[in-house]
Amino acid sequence: MTTVSNTVTVLLPLPLGNGYTYGIPDALDLGRGDIVSVPLGQRQVNGVGWDREPEDVTPEKLKFISAKLDSPPLPRVSREFVDWVAAYNLASPGAVLRMVISVPAALEPPKPRIAYALNTNPPACRTTAARERVLTVLKDGLPRSGQELALEAGTGPSVIKGLVEANMLIKLTLPPAPHFANPDWHAPGPTLSAEQATAATAMRQHVLDSAFQPSVLEGVPGSGKTEVYLEAISEALASDKQALVLLPEIALSAQWLERFRERFGCAPALWHSDLTGVQRRTTWRAVASGEAKVVVGARSALFLPYPDLGVIVIDEEHDGSFKQEEGVVYNARDMGVVRASLGSIPVALVSATPSLETMQNVAEGRYKHFNLPARHGGAALPDILRVDMRVAGPERGKWLSPDLVNTLNETFLRGEQALLFLNRRGYAPLTLCRACGFRLQCPQCSTWLVEHRLLGRLQCHQCGYAAKMPQACPDCGAKDKLTACGPGVERLAEEVDEIFPSIESRIVASDTLHRPGQAAELVREIESRKIDLLIGTQIISKGYHFPYLTLVGVVDADLGLSGGDLRASERTYQLLYQVAGRAGRAERPGRVILQTYMPDHPVIEAISTGDREEFLSAEAQDRKDNMMPPFGRLVGIIVSGADEAAVEQAVKALNQTAPRDNKIQTLGPAEAPIKLLRGRHRRRFLLKARKNVNIQAIIRRWLSTAQIPRKIRVHVDIDPYTFL
Ligand code: ADP
Ligand code: ZN
Repeated sequence: MTTVSNTVTVLLPLPLGNGYTYGIPDALDLGRGDIVSVPLGQRQVNGVGWDREPEDVTPEKLKFISAKLDSPPLPRVSREFVDWVAAYNLASPGAVLRMVISVPAALEPPKPRIAYALNTNPPACRTTAARERVLTVLKDGLPRSGQELALEAGTGPSVIKGLVEANMLIKLTLPPAPHFANPDWHAPGPTLSAEQATAATAMRQHVLDSAFQPSVLEGVPGSGKTEVYLEAISEALASDKQALVLLPEIALSAQWLERFRERFGCAPALWHSDLTGVQRRTTWRAVASGEAKVVVGARSALFLPYPDLGVIVIDEEHDGSFKQEEGVVYNARDMGVVRASLGSIPVALVSATPSLETMQNVAEGRYKHFNLPARHGGAALPDILRVDMRVAGPERGKWLSPDLVNTLNETFLRGEQALLFLNRRGYAPLTLCRACGFRLQCPQCSTWLVEHRLLGRLQCHQCGYAAKMPQACPDCGAKDKLTACGPGVERLAEEVDEIFPSIESRIVASDTLHRPGQAAELVREIESRKIDLLIGTQIISKGYHFPYLTLVGVVDADLGLSGGDLRASERTYQLLYQVAGRAGRAERPGRVILQTYMPDHPVIEAISTGDREEFLSAEAQDRKDNMMPPFGRLVGIIVSGADEAAVEQAVKALNQTAPRDNKIQTLGPAEAPIKLLRGRHRRRFLLKARKNVNIQAIIRRWLSTAQIPRKIRVHVDIDPYTFL
């Protein structure tokens, strides 16, 4: 048997193993990271020359690389990152690679730009008036595209073609036009306060050090955290490096982008799910070539092929939306820290309410900590009042207490703005038959249908199922007995309209607002005070700064506290804190009203007294006692399938070999709280281990020995954030 000496492992962007061995044709000069086209069965697919040793393949079976694509190679650090993310999250490297080379069109070279110029040594030739006009236009020496030239000379393309054939014009190929301007880092930022300067100087130094250094930038809303990390970005730019900022809700970050533009004179490159195909292609390519210097994006921006990243900023680091739950399950906050470590660069985790995980890393000395204790310009933090709904609530079927209504009234009389916060989209979360008690449920999920009156339909918030509101109860057939239970933002808007008919209000929720253009329009309307009242879900809680918004009413402060989720208290605290921070951010003082049935609950107590330290240490102690994150590790495993009996059987088989010893505890199997989702029956395991246990290795071994039928899905969630 002969072997071919020149082979390479090619990783394909498909959930298939660790890559395949291909032969390298003699004429091909191939390096690691080069992007290639290879045959796979009957298809041609793109892949990347990988760092794993190729396997021995018999020459008859060996397939050869078809071509090397004209694209910058995938940097070494990106390749290491793919392998790391895959190993940690128990995903296949190919599935992670697919997130990196997510834009196949970007791997093709951009079309060259053809332009025309005068031949400086033209042959004698017949001219016409049209030809003369073309020649005159080009006399200034600037080459032009055929389209521009035809337009300026007022002719058609055939005239230009004729001139080229007559050798009067020459055809040039220009390099592709740049799409992204270079941010101007020379312009200084504002004069920083002492605390801001301490943090900014350290962060600039971290960039200069080119070493892994995580730091936490904590500070109340408006304390200048953004100003401080813009300094670190400025330092990266000065060193000719790239910078990445991850934001939750990138589609709504109009104000952030405006600030970036003010500081650096141009827009950054954006990366989120609403980009068009062309935007995706040009942005991916500009990042890969190093042309795009600053990228602001959602979590997937972490996987762009930066050749020379100098700093990563993760703004609102505590935000749950950094966790991706579908496809490759990963936490972009944690993977951002990993990416920084692999690239030997600093990473800044920014938040007014850093997560317990992050604060534990500070406590153990792994992360540096900078605190900005005061609002810039000394604006006072809002007063926070509790309304005890048990004694001071509204009449039945209403949701705004007399105290809140009075305060809204005062606010409007002063010409100021208010925000009513309720983290529930739609009109009502539940529709019930008053005759028989039947609840309208999603046919494919074990969830209630949410009425969206503005859209005139019922919706499942899990799977997107939608239906018209029935006239009669689907169960008992009684007419006109279906009743809305509980409030959503639409129902609040109705109540507000009755009480304050002349007030201009807007509902702000993910289904009423999701395009950057709409968000920018809303921001303008608020800033120009066209709007008096916002009625919003958590989408409004992030990052906005409105000087005339002085009252925040939290309609149901207890909403997040039920549900038995590990982070329920922490998350509710963060959310309420963040919402409260929308009030009175300029010279006008703010007020916050929390409507609650549990005024003595530790979270409500901590928010209203401002005693975050005490709350955090109690919460940390509780987690420590129960060996919960960040003191222990959790892994969620969901087994699902359309056939309930088959799911049961698979779960039984898995349960028999589940790891159970003194280092690792397996809880369950149990029905998942959402036991039916999109028509699939779901069971859960929850694994709990000490921090130093290599839980990935144990799970990999466990799952690889079990016989799981193909139609059953086993979904592994390392460090889970949802327990549904
Ligand atoms: P955070 O990110 O902590 O919410 P920002 O950086 O957005 O705070 O700052 C809040 C407001 O205060 C912004 O308008 C910002 O431009 C302004 N600001 C912060 N620090 C300064 C400073 N040192 N000089 C002038 N303006 C500042
Ligand atoms: Zn559903």
